Amino acid sequence: MSAIDGLPPLRQVIATHGLSAKKALGQNFLLDLNLTAKIARMAGDLAGADVLEIGPGPGGLTRGLLAEGARHVLAVEKDARCMAPLAEIAAVYPGRLEVVNADALDVDAAARLTPPIKVVANLPYNVGTELLVRWLTPEVWPPFWDSLTLMFQREVAERIIATPGSKAYGRLAILAQWRCDARIAMRLPPEAFTPAPKVDSAVVHLKALPGPRFEADPKLLERVVAAAFNQRRKMLRASLKGLAPDIEDRLRMAGLSPTDRAEQISIEGFCALARTLAD
Ligand code: SAM
Repeated sequence: MSAIDGLPPLRQVIATHGLSAKKALGQNFLLDLNLTAKIARMAGDLAGADVLEIGPGPGGLTRGLLAEGARHVLAVEKDARCMAPLAEIAAVYPGRLEVVNADALDVDAAARLTPPIKVVANLPYNVGTELLVRWLTPEVWPPFWDSLTLMFQREVAERIIATPGSKAYGRLAILAQWRCDARIAMRLPPEAFTPAPKVDSAVVHLKALPGPRFEADPKLLERVVAAAFNQRRKMLRASLKGLAPDIEDRLRMAGLSPTDRAEQISIEGFCALARTLAD
C-alpha cells in the first residue's frame, strides 16, 4: 500500500540513500508512518502552526507533521546524508518544508518561524536534555514555542514529570513544571525503533503556561534548586549553606524546615525560598 503522500516506504528511503544508522548521532529511526502521524497529532492541531523539528533523519515524523497539516516545518538535521530524502519530501509539500543542515545547538530557530510555534521531535539522545533545558530557560517568558512534544529515553521522561518524594524528582522536573503543564503522552518499547535502542522511550508533551505557577526570580530559583539537588541526600541547611549565612532563618521564613531534604520540597516551596533570598 502506498503512503498518503505517495512517497516510498521509509525502509526503501533508507536503503536508497544508504542511511545506515550512526550511533554517535543518536540515530534510532521511526519507520511506521502510522506511529509518526500519531505522534504528530499529540502536538494538537497543527493547521495554522509552524513546527520546529530537530533531527528529522529520513523524515518519518516530518511526513507525519506535514500530512497532519502543519503550516510550515523547519527541520534541523546534522547528518548531510539526510538532505536528499528530505528534499524529496519538500517537493511533495511545496513551500511547507524548510530543511537546515546544521547542529541544532547552533540554530536560532525562533528567528525563522512565525507563531504559533510547536516543537515536535524524536530527539537525538546525546543533545536532547540540553535542548530541553534551553527551551525551558529563555530570557523572557512566555517562550517562542507554545508546546513541546518530544521523544526521550523513558528515564528522562520520568524525570521531567516527576513529583516530590520520588527518586526521579529533581532539577528537570522543577524547571519543566514551574512554567509548563507536563505529561507523558505515550510510552514506546525499543522495538518501535530501527535500530532498537537498549532502553524504553516516551513522548512527553509540555504546554507553556502564560506565566510561572509561583513567583520567583528564574536565576535565583535555578541556583537554589541546583544547590539543593547537587547534594540531594543532605539536609537543606547543609546543602544550601553556601547561599546565605542565615540560611536556616530563610528556610523557616519560606515555611520549610532546615532538616528537610531537596526531594521533599515542592516547586512552591523552592519558589518561596528563592523569594526570601531575593531580599
Ligand atoms: N526523526 C527521525 C525519526 O523519528 O525517525 C530520526 C530521529 S533520531 C532519534 C535523531 C536524529 O537527530 C538523527 O537523524 C540524527 O542525525 C539527528 N541529530 C543528532 N544530533 C543532532 C544535532 N546536534 N542537531 C541536529 N540533528 C541531530
